Amino acid sequence: MSDCIFCKIVNKEIPSAVVYEDNEILAFKDIYPVAPVHILIIPKKHLASTNELEEEDALLTGKMIMVARDIARKEGIEESGYRILTNCGPDSRQEVMHLHFHLIGGKKLGGNIG
Ligand code: AMP
Ligand code: ZN
Repeated sequence: MSDCIFCKIVNKEIPSAVVYEDNEILAFKDIYPVAPVHILIIPKKHLASTNELEEEDALLTGKMIMVARDIARKEGIEESGYRILTNCGPDSRQEVMHLHFHLIGGKKLGGNIG
């Protein structure tokens, strides 16, 4: 999608701090981190949100979670703990309409997630 900021990050049209990349997944640091570790894991192909996932994307989304887990391990927060979350739609306050999983950790997180 030409006007999607995360597609532009995938295409290296705008810079990001990449922490992981393969042929179908990119992970980069969130520009406004809410915790010491705040990384976004995205599919390279444009999917607006979980609402657009098809059966064929099951392996891709599973890999995205495993990439998040591997980054958590590399960042040293595997044992202290972390959150993996994704927002979908207006009530969730999704801002960027390109599917992304937030990996958040490195501190004791707040109790409110809703
Ligand atoms: P969400 O509300 O789930 O759509 O979250 C979007 C996230 O993308 C926010 O945490 C933003 O800080 C982050 N973000 C927006 N633009 C950029 C960017 N250019 N580079 C890195 N993170 C970004
Ligand atoms: Zn996109």
